[in-house]
Amino acid sequence: MKYTVITGASSGIGYATALAFAERGKNLILAARREEKLEQLKDEIKKIDQNIDVIVKPVDLSIAENVYVFYESLKKYELETWINNAGFGNFASVKEQNLHKVASMLHVNIEAVTILSSLFVRDYENVEGTQIINVSSAGGYIMISDFVTYSATKFYVSAFTEGLAGELKSKGSKMQAKVLAPAVTQTEFELSSLDVDEFQYEGQFPKFHTSGEMARFMLTLYDSNKTVGMVDESTYEFHLKDPIFPFREFENKK
Ligand code: NAP
Repeated sequence: MKYTVITGASSGIGYATALAFAERGKNLILAARREEKLEQLKDEIKKIDQNIDVIVKPVDLSIAENVYVFYESLKKYELETWINNAGFGNFASVKEQNLHKVASMLHVNIEAVTILSSLFVRDYENVEGTQIINVSSAGGYIMISDFVTYSATKFYVSAFTEGLAGELKSKGSKMQAKVLAPAVTQTEFELSSLDVDEFQYEGQFPKFHTSGEMARFMLTLYDSNKTVGMVDESTYEFHLKDPIFPFREFENKK
């Protein structure tokens, strides 16, 4: 029994990705804070295929101690794929941003991704067929005004994951590391970014993807040997790419 772990599975891209992996018959471990949403997703998955094993893990990933406890609780399962998708944005200028919210965003978008990626690589680096996919953003390759701190967290995710991919390749490891970089996608993202209860995508954005479309892009990236799966912000086409940041192997001169 092998499992695919998806963080941030209670809504949006994570929820749709769980359904897409379920269509492939993958056993799933679903994490987020809202347990009732994860249970609802589990019920939906069971309707697709009742033989799929679904483990629900309620966890607040903004607290590092929880992140370690969460990873430890998965030691009894054999993992195949790890998708760090949980994350949120904050729409505000640097001058005006709420630093309490920003601190939480740094914990979820950067710290949790780093801890979970490192522990997964430590345990599975040489297991054939393993993959880690970290969800960045088009804003993880271009800075967006009034989204600067969020963009910077996603630059971190892109750079860290591309670097990890390079490190794994240079060491001949069996695991692959990949970055998914969505552009605007209709999810609950704008609710958390803007601190509102409702948001209409139609009329606000000239183009956007649905979470189902993004889940299909996730599968396209999963099936490929490329490192980056990115939505072009002008055309909204999805492209598979080689790493974008320069990568240099450390040369020990001694
Ligand atoms: P979403 O619908 O708001 O989903 C975010 C997920 O992250 C939810 O499942 C949420 O679950 C989880 N999460 C947030 N804080 C958490 C915490 N403290 N602990 C555990 N889980 C937490 O938004 P989404 O668009 O699907 O976002 C998924 C990823 O795509 C994010 O990394 C986001 O930055 C990225 N992205 C989104 C867009 C877009 O336009 N939608 C564009 C580019 C990149 P709970 O609230 O239940 O904890």
